[in-house]
Amino acid sequence: MTTSASAPFPWTNPAITPGQSPEPLLPPDPAQLFRRRADRLRQLADGNSLRDWLLFVADVSDGQREVAALPADAPPEGRWRADLEALYPRLRPHLPAAAIGAVEDVLGQDPGTLTALANRLHNGAPTPADLPAAPLVMAALQLAWTRHAAHIAPSIARPESTMTTCPVCGSAPVAGVIHIGMQSGGLRYLHCGLCHTAWHHVRATCVACGDGKKVTQRFIEGDSGVARAETCDSCKSYLKLLHADKAQGLDPVADDLASLALDLLVGEEGYRRMGANPFLLQAI
Ligand SMILES: [Zn+2]
Ligand SMILES: [Zn+2]
Repeated sequence: MTTSASAPFPWTNPAITPGQSPEPLLPPDPAQLFRRRADRLRQLADGNSLRDWLLFVADVSDGQREVAALPADAPPEGRWRADLEALYPRLRPHLPAAAIGAVEDVLGQDPGTLTALANRLHNGAPTPADLPAAPLVMAALQLAWTRHAAHIAPSIARPESTMTTCPVCGSAPVAGVIHIGMQSGGLRYLHCGLCHTAWHHVRATCVACGDGKKVTQRFIEGDSGVARAETCDSCKSYLKLLHADKAQGLDPVADDLASLALDLLVGEEGYRRMGANPFLLQAI
């Protein structure tokens, strides 16, 4: 079964009824999510300075779509190695030799070593030795956590609309998505880059520290207008905001990767990113 890429996707196009509270959580749909991400990455690659990397991550997303159809019969912490084992042969033709050796090493390691590796990548603190296998390990962690979130997120009690980390897995958001044209003047959902849960969050305050007075939006003149950086002068952090009305097929992870120039701009001004993109550990 296939779905048209142009059909609304609830994860990035939530149904919003005027006068009613927004849905607090948008659970991921793994089958659609990875297919749409691959499409979006190939669309964004054209003319982008990270073109080859975006096309590689699109291939990874294709592999993830196939593996997402396999049953997830264990909690994510114990599941991701099996997902890596399923993903690896699908992606082997696209990998450089260093990555092939590194992924095979990871597959041969004991559970304690694997858990330590997952924790380092989850915390955005890999060692140099972790990097060759990092994209595939992150892809496997996404697979395990996303299928978990697809089942768990709908049963979670209504979270506060000021949560700074993912209600399912505890990650910092990879980006926020702004939906305009609502009676409320717009809604913001924060998106998890690991388990792909999205959660509603109040607008116009810094997600990291809650300050509403020293928040500014920065953007690059003349670009597509999809991505802006919300910078905070109270805590010197920033979060990427993606505008859903500017791009039908928007994907938070893909659009965040493709707007790296904006990260470089605000990074030079001394702002620190809130949450890491799972596929940026190696690209920069
Ligand atoms: Zn999450
Ligand atoms: Zn702040």
